[in-house]
Amino acid sequence: MYVENWLPFSYVPYYLPCPEIFNMKLQYKGEKPFQPVTWSLYPQPKLLEQRPTELLTLTPWLAPIVSEGTFDPELLQHIYQPLNLTIGVTVFAVGKYTQFIKHFLESAEQFFMQGYRVRYYVFTNDPAAVPRVPLGPGRSLSTIPIQKHSCWEEISMCRMETISQHIAKTAHREVDYLFCLNVDMVFRNPWGPETLGDLVAAIHPGYYAVPRQQFPYERRHVSTAFVADGEGDFYYGGAVFGGRVARVYEFTRGCHMAILADKANGIMAAWQEESHLKPSLPSCTSPPKCCPLSTSGMTGSPSHPA
Ligand code: UDP
Repeated sequence: MYVENWLPFSYVPYYLPCPEIFNMKLQYKGEKPFQPVTWSLYPQPKLLEQRPTELLTLTPWLAPIVSEGTFDPELLQHIYQPLNLTIGVTVFAVGKYTQFIKHFLESAEQFFMQGYRVRYYVFTNDPAAVPRVPLGPGRSLSTIPIQKHSCWEEISMCRMETISQHIAKTAHREVDYLFCLNVDMVFRNPWGPETLGDLVAAIHPGYYAVPRQQFPYERRHVSTAFVADGEGDFYYGGAVFGGRVARVYEFTRGCHMAILADKANGIMAAWQEESHLKPSLPSCTSPPKCCPLSTSGMTGSPSHPA
Protein backbone atom coordinates (compact mmCIF):
# COMPACT_ATOMS: atom_id res chain seq x y z
CA MET A 1 0.00 0.00 0.00
CA TYR A 2 2.69 2.41 1.09
CA VAL A 3 4.84 1.96 -1.96
CA GLU A 4 1.86 2.01 -4.30
CA ASN A 5 0.72 5.36 -2.99
CA TRP A 6 4.11 6.84 -2.69
CA LEU A 7 6.20 6.02 -5.67
CA PRO A 8 4.83 6.32 -9.17
CA PHE A 9 7.22 3.77 -10.62
CA SER A 10 7.34 0.22 -11.81
CA TYR A 11 10.89 -0.87 -11.13
CA VAL A 12 12.32 -4.25 -10.38
CA PRO A 13 12.48 -4.30 -6.61
CA TYR A 14 14.50 -7.51 -6.48
CA TYR A 15 17.51 -5.55 -7.66
CA LEU A 16 17.62 -3.46 -4.50
CA PRO A 17 20.34 -4.41 -2.08
CA CYS A 18 18.71 -4.98 1.24
CA PRO A 19 21.26 -4.32 3.97
CA GLU A 20 20.57 -5.97 7.28
CA ILE A 21 19.93 -2.64 8.87
CA PHE A 22 16.71 -2.25 6.89
CA ASN A 23 15.27 -5.20 8.75
CA MET A 24 16.03 -3.78 12.15
CA LYS A 25 12.97 -2.83 14.13
CA LEU A 26 13.78 0.07 16.42
CA GLN A 27 11.76 0.29 19.61
CA TYR A 28 10.24 3.70 20.10
CA LYS A 29 7.57 4.60 22.57
CA GLY A 30 4.12 5.31 21.12
CA GLU A 31 4.95 4.10 17.61
CA LYS A 32 1.96 4.10 15.25
CA PRO A 33 1.65 2.39 11.86
CA PHE A 34 2.09 4.60 8.83
CA GLN A 35 -1.23 5.78 7.40
CA PRO A 36 -1.14 6.11 3.63
CA VAL A 37 -3.01 9.12 2.32
CA THR A 38 -4.50 9.75 -1.08
CA TRP A 39 -3.06 12.61 -3.07
CA SER A 40 -5.53 15.01 -4.60
CA LEU A 41 -4.94 18.02 -6.79
CA TYR A 42 -5.51 21.48 -5.39
CA PRO A 43 -4.21 25.00 -6.06
CA GLN A 44 -0.69 25.79 -4.91
CA PRO A 45 -0.62 27.62 -1.57
CA LYS A 46 1.07 31.02 -1.92
CA LEU A 47 3.52 31.72 0.88
CA LEU A 48 3.36 35.50 0.38
CA GLU A 49 -0.21 35.85 -0.81
CA GLN A 50 -2.00 37.31 2.24
CA ARG A 51 0.25 40.29 2.95
CA PRO A 52 3.41 40.70 0.92
CA THR A 53 5.59 41.11 4.02
CA GLU A 54 4.12 38.22 5.96
CA LEU A 55 4.37 34.54 5.28
CA LEU A 56 1.49 32.13 5.27
CA THR A 57 1.30 30.57 8.73
CA LEU A 58 -0.63 27.39 8.01
CA THR A 59 -0.49 24.90 5.16
CA PRO A 60 -3.72 23.72 3.50
CA TRP A 61 -3.33 20.53 5.53
CA LEU A 62 -3.09 22.55 8.76
CA ALA A 63 0.58 22.16 9.58
CA PRO A 64 2.18 25.30 11.02
CA ILE A 65 4.62 27.30 8.92
CA VAL A 66 7.02 28.60 11.52
CA SER A 67 8.78 31.94 11.09
CA GLU A 68 9.69 34.93 13.25
CA GLY A 69 6.62 36.53 14.73
CA THR A 70 4.39 33.45 14.57
CA PHE A 71 5.23 32.20 18.07
CA ASP A 72 6.08 33.41 21.56
CA PRO A 73 9.69 32.31 22.29
CA GLU A 74 9.33 32.77 26.05
CA LEU A 75 6.17 30.73 26.25
CA LEU A 76 7.70 27.93 24.17
CA GLN A 77 10.78 27.95 26.36
CA HIS A 78 8.56 27.66 29.41
CA ILE A 79 6.76 24.65 27.89
CA TYR A 80 9.76 22.78 26.46
CA GLN A 81 12.52 23.46 29.00
CA PRO A 82 11.10 21.13 31.69
CA LEU A 83 10.93 18.25 29.18
CA ASN A 84 14.69 17.80 29.45
CA LEU A 85 15.07 17.10 25.75
CA THR A 86 18.27 16.24 23.95
CA ILE A 87 18.57 17.63 20.45
CA GLY A 88 20.95 16.07 17.94
CA VAL A 89 22.55 17.74 14.94
CA THR A 90 24.22 15.95 12.04
CA VAL A 91 26.65 17.68 9.73
CA PHE A 92 28.90 16.29 7.05
CA ALA A 93 32.33 17.77 6.44
CA VAL A 94 34.18 15.88 3.76
CA GLY A 95 37.27 17.14 1.94
CA LYS A 96 37.52 20.90 1.83
CA TYR A 97 34.22 21.33 3.70
CA THR A 98 36.08 20.74 7.00
CA GLN A 99 36.97 24.44 6.85
CA PHE A 100 33.33 25.28 7.62
CA ILE A 101 33.04 23.30 10.86
CA LYS A 102 34.49 25.97 13.14
CA HIS A 103 32.11 28.76 12.16
CA PHE A 104 29.17 26.40 12.07
CA LEU A 105 29.83 25.17 15.62
CA GLU A 106 30.69 28.60 17.03
CA SER A 107 27.48 30.08 15.70
CA ALA A 108 25.48 27.04 16.86
CA GLU A 109 26.90 27.44 20.34
CA GLN A 110 25.69 31.01 20.30
CA PHE A 111 22.23 30.48 18.81
CA PHE A 112 21.15 26.84 18.52
CA MET A 113 18.86 25.44 21.20
CA GLN A 114 20.23 27.49 24.06
CA GLY A 115 19.46 25.86 27.42
CA TYR A 116 18.94 22.37 25.96
CA ARG A 117 21.19 19.34 25.82
CA VAL A 118 22.72 19.19 22.35
CA ARG A 119 24.75 16.46 20.64
CA TYR A 120 26.61 17.31 17.48
CA TYR A 121 27.44 14.42 15.17
CA VAL A 122 30.18 15.43 12.74
CA PHE A 123 30.70 12.96 9.90
CA THR A 124 34.05 13.47 8.25
CA ASN A 125 36.79 11.69 6.33
CA ASP A 126 39.35 13.69 8.30
CA PRO A 127 38.68 13.56 12.08
CA ALA A 128 41.95 15.40 12.79
CA ALA A 129 40.57 18.45 10.97
CA VAL A 130 37.61 18.83 13.36
CA PRO A 131 38.51 21.91 15.44
CA ARG A 132 38.14 22.00 19.22
CA VAL A 133 35.37 24.50 19.68
CA PRO A 134 34.46 25.14 23.34
CA LEU A 135 30.98 23.75 24.02
CA GLY A 136 28.51 24.92 26.64
CA PRO A 137 27.27 22.76 29.53
CA GLY A 138 25.21 19.77 28.43
CA ARG A 139 26.53 20.02 24.89
CA SER A 140 28.82 17.40 23.32
CA LEU A 141 30.31 16.46 19.98
CA SER A 142 31.08 13.08 18.41
CA THR A 143 33.23 12.76 15.34
CA ILE A 144 32.22 9.86 13.12
CA PRO A 145 34.75 8.81 10.48
CA ILE A 146 33.34 8.17 7.01
CA GLN A 147 34.94 7.53 3.67
CA LYS A 148 35.52 10.25 1.10
CA HIS A 149 33.58 9.79 -2.10
CA SER A 150 35.12 11.02 -5.28
CA CYS A 151 32.48 13.53 -6.36
CA TRP A 152 30.31 15.98 -4.44
CA GLU A 153 27.10 14.42 -5.77
CA GLU A 154 28.04 11.10 -4.15
CA ILE A 155 28.97 12.81 -0.87
CA SER A 156 25.62 14.53 -0.87
CA MET A 157 23.68 11.38 -1.83
CA CYS A 158 25.26 9.25 0.88
CA ARG A 159 24.00 11.45 3.66
CA MET A 160 20.57 9.78 3.86
CA GLU A 161 22.09 6.33 4.19
CA THR A 162 24.68 7.43 6.74
CA ILE A 163 22.18 9.33 8.87
CA SER A 164 19.64 6.49 8.95
CA GLN A 165 22.32 3.97 9.89
CA HIS A 166 23.71 6.24 12.58
CA ILE A 167 20.23 6.69 14.08
CA ALA A 168 19.68 2.93 14.09
CA LYS A 169 23.03 2.19 15.69
CA THR A 170 23.42 5.08 18.11
CA ALA A 171 21.41 8.25 17.89
CA HIS A 172 17.96 6.79 18.61
CA ARG A 173 19.16 6.11 22.16
CA GLU A 174 20.86 9.46 22.59
CA VAL A 175 18.57 12.18 21.25
CA ASP A 176 14.87 13.01 21.16
CA TYR A 177 14.99 15.21 18.07
CA LEU A 178 17.52 15.32 15.26
CA PHE A 179 18.29 18.06 12.75
CA CYS A 180 20.30 17.33 9.63
CA LEU A 181 22.07 20.46 8.44
CA ASN A 182 24.57 21.59 5.82
CA VAL A 183 27.89 22.56 7.34
CA ASP A 184 28.52 25.56 5.10
CA MET A 185 25.98 27.65 6.94
CA VAL A 186 26.02 29.78 10.09
CA PHE A 187 23.35 30.58 12.63
CA ARG A 188 22.57 34.28 12.85
CA ASN A 189 19.47 34.24 15.06
CA PRO A 190 18.15 32.07 17.88
CA TRP A 191 16.86 28.67 16.83
CA GLY A 192 14.74 27.16 19.57
CA PRO A 193 11.91 24.79 20.44
CA GLU A 194 9.60 26.37 17.84
CA THR A 195 11.25 23.96 15.39
CA LEU A 196 10.46 20.80 17.36
CA GLY A 197 7.85 19.23 15.09
CA ASP A 198 7.52 15.54 14.24
CA LEU A 199 9.03 16.10 10.80
CA VAL A 200 10.14 19.52 9.67
CA ALA A 201 11.89 20.96 6.65
CA ALA A 202 12.96 24.43 5.63
CA ILE A 203 11.52 26.04 2.55
CA HIS A 204 14.35 26.75 0.13
CA PRO A 205 15.04 30.51 0.25
CA GLY A 206 15.19 30.69 -3.52
CA TYR A 207 11.64 29.43 -4.04
CA TYR A 208 9.32 31.41 -1.78
CA ALA A 209 7.30 32.99 -4.54
CA VAL A 210 7.78 30.61 -7.43
CA PRO A 211 4.94 28.79 -9.23
CA ARG A 212 5.11 25.07 -8.58
CA GLN A 213 5.74 24.36 -12.26
CA GLN A 214 9.09 26.15 -11.87
CA PHE A 215 10.23 24.29 -8.76
CA PRO A 216 13.40 22.39 -9.70
CA TYR A 217 11.83 19.03 -8.94
CA GLU A 218 12.95 15.93 -10.74
CA ARG A 219 10.71 15.79 -13.82
CA ARG A 220 11.81 12.50 -15.35
CA HIS A 221 9.20 9.80 -14.78
CA VAL A 222 11.84 7.12 -14.39
CA SER A 223 13.10 8.65 -11.12
CA THR A 224 11.44 7.90 -7.78
CA ALA A 225 11.80 11.63 -7.10
CA PHE A 226 9.51 12.50 -10.02
CA VAL A 227 6.97 15.24 -9.33
CA ALA A 228 4.33 16.20 -11.88
CA ASP A 229 3.91 19.82 -12.98
CA GLY A 230 0.68 20.34 -11.08
CA GLU A 231 1.92 18.91 -7.78
CA GLY A 232 4.01 20.10 -4.85
CA ASP A 233 3.22 22.85 -2.37
CA PHE A 234 6.59 24.19 -1.30
CA TYR A 235 10.14 23.53 -2.42
CA TYR A 236 12.17 22.25 0.53
CA GLY A 237 15.93 22.76 0.65
CA GLY A 238 18.21 19.83 1.36
CA ALA A 239 20.22 21.95 3.80
CA VAL A 240 17.79 21.77 6.74
CA PHE A 241 15.41 19.04 7.81
CA GLY A 242 14.73 17.21 11.03
CA GLY A 243 12.18 16.16 13.59
CA ARG A 244 11.62 13.44 16.13
CA VAL A 245 14.45 10.97 15.83
CA ALA A 246 12.09 8.09 15.01
CA ARG A 247 10.51 10.07 12.19
CA VAL A 248 13.87 11.20 10.84
CA TYR A 249 14.93 7.56 10.80
CA GLU A 250 11.92 6.50 8.72
CA PHE A 251 12.35 9.52 6.50
CA THR A 252 16.08 9.13 5.78
CA ARG A 253 15.66 5.39 5.32
CA GLY A 254 12.86 6.01 2.81
CA CYS A 255 14.99 8.52 0.93
CA HIS A 256 17.92 6.13 0.91
CA MET A 257 15.79 3.36 -0.55
CA ALA A 258 14.43 5.70 -3.20
CA ILE A 259 17.98 6.74 -4.07
CA LEU A 260 18.96 3.05 -4.33
CA ALA A 261 16.00 2.42 -6.65
CA ASP A 262 17.14 5.30 -8.84
CA LYS A 263 20.70 3.96 -8.86
CA ALA A 264 19.44 0.57 -9.92
CA ASN A 265 17.76 2.29 -12.83
CA GLY A 266 20.84 4.31 -13.72
CA ILE A 267 19.47 7.71 -12.78
CA MET A 268 20.48 10.39 -10.30
CA ALA A 269 17.79 12.93 -9.41
CA ALA A 270 18.25 16.55 -10.50
CA TRP A 271 19.29 17.83 -7.06
CA GLN A 272 20.45 14.55 -5.53
CA GLU A 273 18.94 13.89 -2.11
CA GLU A 274 17.16 17.25 -2.05
CA SER A 275 15.00 16.05 -4.94
CA HIS A 276 13.91 13.11 -2.79
CA LEU A 277 12.58 15.33 -0.01
CA LYS A 278 9.33 16.08 -1.80
CA PRO A 279 8.23 12.54 -2.66
CA SER A 280 9.28 11.43 0.80
CA LEU A 281 7.05 13.90 2.57
CA PRO A 282 3.59 12.53 1.71
CA SER A 283 2.88 12.60 5.42
CA CYS A 284 2.55 16.34 4.99
CA THR A 285 -1.02 15.69 3.94
CA SER A 286 -2.00 14.70 7.45
CA PRO A 287 -1.98 17.50 9.99
CA PRO A 288 0.46 17.10 12.84
CA LYS A 289 3.25 15.28 11.07
CA CYS A 290 5.08 17.86 9.06
CA CYS A 291 5.88 21.44 9.68
CA PRO A 292 7.55 23.53 7.01
CA LEU A 293 9.91 26.11 8.47
CA SER A 294 10.96 29.32 6.94
CA THR A 295 14.74 29.60 7.11
CA SER A 296 14.79 32.51 9.52
CA GLY A 297 17.58 31.26 11.78
CA MET A 298 20.37 30.51 9.37
CA THR A 299 22.19 31.83 6.39
CA GLY A 300 24.25 29.92 3.90
CA SER A 301 24.64 29.49 0.21
CA PRO A 302 21.62 27.83 -1.36
CA SER A 303 23.06 25.69 -4.10
CA HIS A 304 20.63 26.87 -6.76
CA PRO A 305 18.97 30.23 -6.11
CA ALA A 306 16.01 30.94 -8.36
N1 UDP B 1 29.63 18.20 1.55
C1 UDP B 1 30.92 17.91 1.99
N2 UDP B 1 31.93 17.88 1.09
C2 UDP B 1 31.75 18.11 -0.24
C3 UDP B 1 30.44 18.39 -0.70
C4 UDP B 1 29.42 18.43 0.21
O1 UDP B 1 31.12 17.72 3.18
O2 UDP B 1 32.74 18.09 -1.00
C5 UDP B 1 28.51 18.22 2.52
C6 UDP B 1 28.52 19.50 3.34
O3 UDP B 1 27.96 19.25 4.59
C7 UDP B 1 27.60 20.40 2.56
C8 UDP B 1 26.56 19.41 2.11
O4 UDP B 1 27.27 18.20 1.84
O5 UDP B 1 27.09 21.44 3.39
C9 UDP B 1 25.79 19.82 0.88
O6 UDP B 1 26.70 20.09 -0.13
P1 UDP B 1 26.22 20.67 -1.51
O7 UDP B 1 27.41 21.01 -2.30
O8 UDP B 1 25.17 19.79 -2.08
O9 UDP B 1 25.42 21.97 -1.09
P2 UDP B 1 25.98 23.43 -0.91
O10 UDP B 1 27.20 23.35 -0.07
O11 UDP B 1 26.26 23.91 -2.30
O12 UDP B 1 24.84 24.14 -0.25
